[in-house]
Amino acid sequence: MPLLKSWRRKRRLERVAIDPALWQRVIGAYEFLSDLDEGERARLHDLAVLFLGEKELHGAGGLTITDEIAVAIAAQACLPILELGLDYYEGFVGIVVYPGQFQVSRSELDEDGVLHEWGDELSGEAMPGGPVVLSWQDIGLAGAGYNVVIHEFAHKIDMLHGDADGYPAPHAGMDAERWYRVLEEGYERLCRQLDAGEETAFDEYAAEHPAEYFAVMSEAFFTDPILLRDELPELYAELALFYRQDPAARLERVERAKAGL
Ligand SMILES: [Zn+2]
Repeated sequence: MPLLKSWRRKRRLERVAIDPALWQRVIGAYEFLSDLDEGERARLHDLAVLFLGEKELHGAGGLTITDEIAVAIAAQACLPILELGLDYYEGFVGIVVYPGQFQVSRSELDEDGVLHEWGDELSGEAMPGGPVVLSWQDIGLAGAGYNVVIHEFAHKIDMLHGDADGYPAPHAGMDAERWYRVLEEGYERLCRQLDAGEETAFDEYAAEHPAEYFAVMSEAFFTDPILLRDELPELYAELALFYRQDPAARLERVERAKAGL
């Protein structure tokens, strides 16, 4: 990391903290954040402080960005990079938040040269080199296997080296061949299952594109990890190596503690 950037970050961490009551409220509102141990929470807090210093949140459609909204987005967005670092979100600054789903206009030139234009209603969008756009209402719908913040920021991780293709570069020390194979086979298997009319345990939207598969499976990895580990153990293991976290073990630890074991 360049020296100036690391100095700036260190200085910010010495001077800025998130209001502890607000931080507790946000952590308490999301089960997958409540499960973090003390050390992980402290690191998530510091990452969220840096995130809020380096990113710019803008309200759109009449929404005003409150501290509550900013911290809720920062805390969730920083979970996937807890062990990777903020540089995984390099290359963009803006985060635009709408009160609810937002309209985007699409256009596509077909092979006959005819321009098709249509509108889409979205709960989130991530553009290469551009902002992340989020619906605050959909952020509020977060639950097991559904998390729009993790979804869009997983796209950003995927976009670190160009367009989102569903295959972010594996780390040194990972078996690259296995990483790409497990993602590709997982995506193809899901498409086959849906074509055959079979039920799947995960959001069918994952079949839209390998990039959506990576984003949806990242949502599951962090917010429904035991299901993902049971259903797709190979994919779970690869994502655990990639994100350098084991959320299923984390959840089991918390459940054992609750049960007094
Ligand atoms: Zn997506």
